[in-house]
This record gives sequence, structure tokens and C-alpha cells, in this order.
Amino acid sequence: MRAAVGPDVRIRLDANQGWTPREAVRVIRGITDAGLDVELVEQPVHRRDLDGMAWVSDRVEVPILADESVFDVRDLVEVIRRRAADMVNVKLAKCGGLQPARTLLDLAAAHGMGTIVGSMMEGPVGVGAAASLVAACGTTAVSDLDAAWWLAWSPVAGGIRYDGASVLLPDAPGLGIADVNEAKVQRHG
Ligand SMILES: [Mg+2]
Repeated sequence: MRAAVGPDVRIRLDANQGWTPREAVRVIRGITDAGLDVELVEQPVHRRDLDGMAWVSDRVEVPILADESVFDVRDLVEVIRRRAADMVNVKLAKCGGLQPARTLLDLAAAHGMGTIVGSMMEGPVGVGAAASLVAACGTTAVSDLDAAWWLAWSPVAGGIRYDGASVLLPDAPGLGIADVNEAKVQRHG
């Protein structure tokens, strides 16, 4: 991948809990030794294996980003307490909404953890809420809000737009949703 995209594109890896701690260290050290310049590695090991993730974090230079390990504040407290990750991926669909997400971002910042806001497979409404959160609260690294790109058509009129790699927030109040895209919704049931 690095050879294909050249040196100026940032690469992030998401193992989605797929490695054992030993595998994670072997792979991530291999990436570092090869000079592949990976920005971060997300959730290298099973979400409940916080001791394993801490063991990995201790042994690699690439920042480790907790995703599935952190749904709510109690999860984040455990990650902080065990120094299991360098960063946390806050998602509205995991924590339940804007207010808990703000609490997670504040808690992470208070403990010197890096942050991004991520997305699952939301459309423009959900990603609009996440982008508003980022605009209001900020994160330490670029957020991961590409989910609405995957839709062939939008169920709503208004809301966010994409301009290349940027999410543009609407000027309208709230999430800026002007209307439901009735014709499309009817046709696709
Ligand atoms: Mg992830």
C-alpha cells in the first residue's frame, strides 16, 4: 500500500480485534522496521483483552487506538487505568449520543489520550451529528467520518456535504436537514 500511494498519504490500520498480542507486536514492529510510516493501529487485539493491548502498547512505537474496547465511560476509565491505548475512537453509535461522546472526549483529553471521532455505517444524518461534535469539541487527530460516502443516494435533503476528504457542515440550524428525500425513499421502500 505504501508503495502504491507514495510518501504523502497517511495510512492507518484497523485490525478489528484480529490479532493476538504477540501477532500484533510482530506485525507492528515489522511495519516500523520497514519504514512504512503508519500513523496509528486501531484495536489490534480482542476488545476485552486490555492487558494484552497494554502489553502491545508498551512494545511498539506506533500509537494504539482503542475502538471496540471503549463504548462508554466505564470502558474508557479501564483503558486509562491500565494504559491500554494511546488514543480512543469515540463513536456516537457506540456511546449513545452527543453528550456521552463529549464526556468521553473530555475524559480522554484530561488524561492526555489522543482522540478521533469515528463512524460506523451511518448516513448523512448520523455523520452530520459526529461532524458537529468534532467542530464543537475538536480531536487530536483527523476524524474518521467517511461512512456517508458509501450511500448511493441520500434519504434526506440538506445536511453535510463532502468536498474531497473534508466534511462540510451546513449553515442551517441543527444538523441542517431540510427535508426527507421522499421520492427516493418511496422508490427504494
Ligand atoms: Mg475500528
